[in-house]
Parts: sequence; C-alpha cells; structure tokens
Amino acid sequence: MHRLLPIAALLVATPAAAQDSPDPARLKATVEKLVSFGTRHTLSSPDDPQRGIGAARRWAAGELTRISDACGGCITSANLARTFTGKRAPNGVEIVDVLGFQQGIEPRRVIIIGAHIDSRVSDPMDATSDAPGANDDGSGVALVLEAARILSKQKFRATIVYAIFSGEEQGLYGGTLLAETAKQKKWTVSAMLNNDIVGNTIGQDGRRVTDHVRVFSEGIPAVEDLPTLQARRENGGEDDGPSRALAKVVDGVAAAIPAGLDVFIDRRPDRFGRGGDHEPFLALGYPAVRFTVATENWNGQHQTLRTDKGVAYGDTIDKMDFAYLAKVTAINIASIRRLAAAPAAPSGVTIAGALGYDTTVKWQPVEGATGYRIHWRRNDAQDWQKSADVPATDQVDVLKDVPVDDHFVGVSALGADGAESLVTFAGPG
Ligand SMILES: [Zn+2]
Repeated sequence: MHRLLPIAALLVATPAAAQDSPDPARLKATVEKLVSFGTRHTLSSPDDPQRGIGAARRWAAGELTRISDACGGCITSANLARTFTGKRAPNGVEIVDVLGFQQGIEPRRVIIIGAHIDSRVSDPMDATSDAPGANDDGSGVALVLEAARILSKQKFRATIVYAIFSGEEQGLYGGTLLAETAKQKKWTVSAMLNNDIVGNTIGQDGRRVTDHVRVFSEGIPAVEDLPTLQARRENGGEDDGPSRALAKVVDGVAAAIPAGLDVFIDRRPDRFGRGGDHEPFLALGYPAVRFTVATENWNGQHQTLRTDKGVAYGDTIDKMDFAYLAKVTAINIASIRRLAAAPAAPSGVTIAGALGYDTTVKWQPVEGATGYRIHWRRNDAQDWQKSADVPATDQVDVLKDVPVDDHFVGVSALGADGAESLVTFAGPG
C-alpha cells in the first residue's frame, strides 16, 4: 500500500543533515582497507609499502589529507613520534601517532577524538602473523576518519584533534605520547573521546545487543592530591569529576539522536582490570572517556586466526556490525559538535551557605562565554535536576531556598549559539 506524502514532508524527510550522517558502507570500506595491510602490529615493518603498521599509518595520514583538501585545507596533518622501550618493546620502537588538527578560534584548547591503529594476535610480540584488527581497533580508526569527514564541514571554537594512535597493545604508548605532548604544549584539553572496539553487536555468548554503547569514565580524578581528595570526601562529589561530567554530556547528546543508541554510563575508568588510550590522559588530569560496544566477543580480540573445535578465533570483519558502528560515530560527532562550539568549562567553581537556606555559587570568568548555567540537584539524585542561566557579566549567583547541605551544584559556560561546556562541580571555597 502506498501513501502519498505532501511535498513538504518529503523535503523534511531528506534534510541536508542526512548526507552528513555517518555512512556504514564507508566505515566498512575503511576497515577493509586497514585489514588489507595484513598486520598493523607496532613492531611490524614501518617501511614496507604494502604490509605492516607503516603502510597503514601512511594510508591513514593520506586520508586525513584528502579530507583536508575537501575542506580547503581545514585540517593540518602532523606525525608525532618518539621511541619507547618496554616489556613489549624490549629493543625500543618508534611510536608514530598520525594526527589531524582542525583549528578553531581557540588554537590551544583542544577536543581529541582518538583510536589505535595497531593490532595484535595471541602472542603480543608476534609482529608477522596476520592480525586483521578489524574491530580492535579498525572500528575506532574508521570512526575517527568518518568524524573528520563530517566535522570538517563546520568551523568550531575549540580545535579538534583527530588522533590515530600506535603502540596501544604494547603499552598505551601512542596515548601517552599525545597526552604528554598536550601537557608540554600547555593545551587545555576540554575532552578526550577514546573509541576502542566499537563495531560489533554479537557477544561471545551469541547474544546480540544493538540498543546501547558503553561509555567508561572515572568519577574521582586520578590526579587529585590528598587535600583535594579529603575535601571531596568531606563534601561529596564522587560522581562528578570532569570525566564523569563528560560521560553525562555524551549520554544527554546521544538521547537526542533519533533512532540512536542509549549510553550506558559505565562508572569505572575502563572495563574491569583492562585499559586503553584514554588512561594516559586521565593520568595527566584531562577529562577522557572510552567508548566500547555493549557486548564483547573475546574470541575476536587478541587472537591468532584459527578454527579450534568449531570456534573461529580472530578479529575479522565478518563479526562486525557497521550500522551499529555508524550510530556510535554519530554520538561522537554530536558530542564534539556541542563541546567544540562551547567555551571552556569554568574553573574555580565554589559554593557556600552553611547554616542557611540559600547557596551562594561563585566561578571564574571564561573566555568567549555569553552566559553561564547553574545546575543543581538534591544529594539523593544522580542527574542534574534544575538549572538557571545567568549573563556573562555574572560570576556569582545565590540559589534561594536551595540549602547547601542537601544539594550538589555545578556551573557550565554557554557559547553564542547556546552550546554548553562540561559542568564543573562546585567544591568548597
Ligand atoms: Zn584496543
């Protein structure tokens, strides 16, 4: 049965934004290309034109250049390199991160979206066997390149850094290299989104989970010194560190995407006992989260390609779901759109009001803010419940009949188009 739609409805049904949606076919083509390098092991050949991590990195850098050409040179590519030595790189290996910088109005304030290009099999030192790394982490690299294609069509306040890491499987070397570079260059890192294993929906148990993605975050910053930790213990805020605030933003952004995925705010820095490239950023005090699929198939991770007792082991492309990967990509893009359009999050946010019924909130001014949003919630709630906007000239506000004993408070900065920064949790003055 056909139903005639009025012209206007047809026009609404095919908005320009549809062309800007992440494309499952293009994501698949990227993963296929990455798999075609045979292995992308960190210790594989950096020079071979066809096989190994060097060829894969050069291809990825070429993609960033191609994307940049299409936006009039809006992305500057750069390689970051340093030799690392460790248990899984005993003779030392040159780690090369492939980076693309999409400069914003604030060149030194960055939002990083990253994934690792290196792959491995069962033996972490085996640099020659085929290691397709389709999902771990071809999926993440495809997501980063797709985000660059789409976000490069717009201009932002913050600088976006597209990061393709190496050496993750040998010791989080690529993440460490970029995090330490950010510190050394005194960048303000407003957010770091790590995407690692983001493209499958069938778990090891055969069950398919297509409705959500996990976003891991720390609650209490790894870098907090003892006095700050003691103050947090005294005043609360274990669920309100900058990384948790970032996870909450991602959750809110995802909820607004039609037919998108739910975000499972996984309240620990990473999966139990495991890690990823966001952790070097956490270690230096930057807000960072990890995106990972809802259900993992460990037979497809870090496994030598083989069939054993009827079970196919190995990180192959047939185990992936590109429609799902496109949805995870859309959440990353929407999160960056918001945070890169917004000013930096306020600093120096404090509350006072003991022995009274009102709470006084103070904060430091933020460059480019057109206003501030005060958020508060009762201490028995996890999500912000109420908010009030104040003009850019204000750096103090009194919340009437909001007793400080029973409420948590935070402040965000607003941009010209209403884009909102992360919420900074208010501590003692
Ligand atoms: Zn990985």
